[in-house]
Amino acid sequence: MKPTYIDHIGIAVKSLKESIPHYESLLGTRCYKIEEVKDQRVKTAFFLIGQTKIELLESTDPEGPIGKYLEKKGEGIHHLALAVENTTDALYEAGQEGIILIDTTSRKGADGMNIGFLHPKSTHGVLVELCSK
Ligand code: ZN
Repeated sequence: MKPTYIDHIGIAVKSLKESIPHYESLLGTRCYKIEEVKDQRVKTAFFLIGQTKIELLESTDPEGPIGKYLEKKGEGIHHLALAVENTTDALYEAGQEGIILIDTTSRKGADGMNIGFLHPKSTHGVLVELCSK
């Protein structure tokens, strides 16, 4: 597994409506896409800085992963996403290296990406997403 760059940083927010204008002025750029990912029970908003994105995540279900995260920890950085050539291959390699996996194969994420997560227990408390086009 050799990530090529940081694809995005995921930030859990209570409300996209409130946070989008804040991030637009903070980053000096417009949100270029809002997308609901039903499977993840989130609505996402994207900003591009160089080749790295900021992904704001609003929960659509209090029982979903972001809903539970907000309840437990409040707003803040939720995950770090590393770009890899092929998500399923990278997950397999990470597993071979003894990293605990949340996903053993890739699934469809926002922005047309194939994504998979590594368990924070194996990455010193950081939820790491691997993603590829
Ligand atoms: Zn993500």
